[in-house]
Amino acid sequence: MAVFSNSSFSEHEHVAFHHDPVSGLKAIIAVHNTVLGPSLGGCRMYPYSNDDEAITDVLRLSKGMTYKAAMANLPMGGGKSVIIGNPHTDKSPEIMQAMGAFVESLGGQYIVAEDSGIAVSDVHLMAQQTKHAGGLNAKFTYEGAPSDGNPAPSTAYGTFVGLKAAVDFALQKDLSELTVAIQGVGQVGYRLAKHLHEAGAKLIIADTFGPAVDKAQSEFGAKVVDINEIHAVDADVLAPCALGATINPTTINSIKAKVIAGAANNQLLTESLGQVLFDKGITYAPDYVINAAGIIDIHHQQVDSSAAKMKAHIEMIGTTLTDIFTLSQAQQRPTNIVANELAEAKFK
Ligand code: NAD
Repeated sequence: MAVFSNSSFSEHEHVAFHHDPVSGLKAIIAVHNTVLGPSLGGCRMYPYSNDDEAITDVLRLSKGMTYKAAMANLPMGGGKSVIIGNPHTDKSPEIMQAMGAFVESLGGQYIVAEDSGIAVSDVHLMAQQTKHAGGLNAKFTYEGAPSDGNPAPSTAYGTFVGLKAAVDFALQKDLSELTVAIQGVGQVGYRLAKHLHEAGAKLIIADTFGPAVDKAQSEFGAKVVDINEIHAVDADVLAPCALGATINPTTINSIKAKVIAGAANNQLLTESLGQVLFDKGITYAPDYVINAAGIIDIHHQQVDSSAAKMKAHIEMIGTTLTDIFTLSQAQQRPTNIVANELAEAKFK
């Protein structure tokens, strides 16, 4: 079980391992960087098949959080945690409380939040043992309504703003003239589809979950295609909103869209594919820039803020992306590399 020689280890400040024999908790917290502030990131519970898989995931995800927070101009660093276990069969209040105590033991270097396999109710259990839990007691949505703590409405709005910025830059067209292909119409993809439908865009969608497909089809008149075809449809914009690695050597040559702008994390299988997109004249909105509104939301719920301030902060995603696209064009370099360098200049 190697850490320093793991290919995802990248100057992480702190990696902590914990086993609580009473509850059975086995967990890892990775603090990537705290130059800009305490590290914030979700806790993922997943039945990793071995320890190396869990370490690689937590190292990779925590690094991504540093870049995301830096580009969103948040006073936060990047961290993430993983619990090794099946969220459907291994979860217990004792495990969540033990995780809270583990988070507390880092003295505020890491602030835990929800992620895949971990619900807001689990974070509440952790918060019984730690002061360092984020995303709880959310007060407002970006529209000023009461919030249930789900960051997806903010993430979808930020993605919509970012998609519009990419279209303005690359295509100079109104959304009502465009067709957008959305891969995955779950929490974020469905809400993005709603914004786009209201702006007059035509939609093509794909999802593995039948009821999600039916809903988007009936509410937005979306055309439905197979999940293996969505990346290759005739559309102006491709919005990956499901899994990571949508852009990979198998799919990249069949992408017809001239803009890629979606909420999914880790959309490029490898960083080098950013150059391939650039060479093909495809404007790619770097994932951690366009999908940052979820942590912007969590931040504004923690400090003395308001819905209006949070909305204005989310809308800065459009400005940040336009700056990245402009630099990318001026330097003739891919957007993902330009974004990485801008982020590193802030936290290194
Ligand atoms: P979700 O689970 O609610 O939605 C994902 C949808 O994708 C589901 O409807 C699922 O059925 C579908 N799907 C799964 N495999 C698919 C496939 N092969 N092809 C097409 N559809 C498929 O998740 P979400 O919260 O909407 O998040 C979507 C993406 O955005 C994820 O990558 C997530 O990490 C990222 N993200 C989400 C947030 C947030 O606030 N929820 C914030 C930042 C990033």
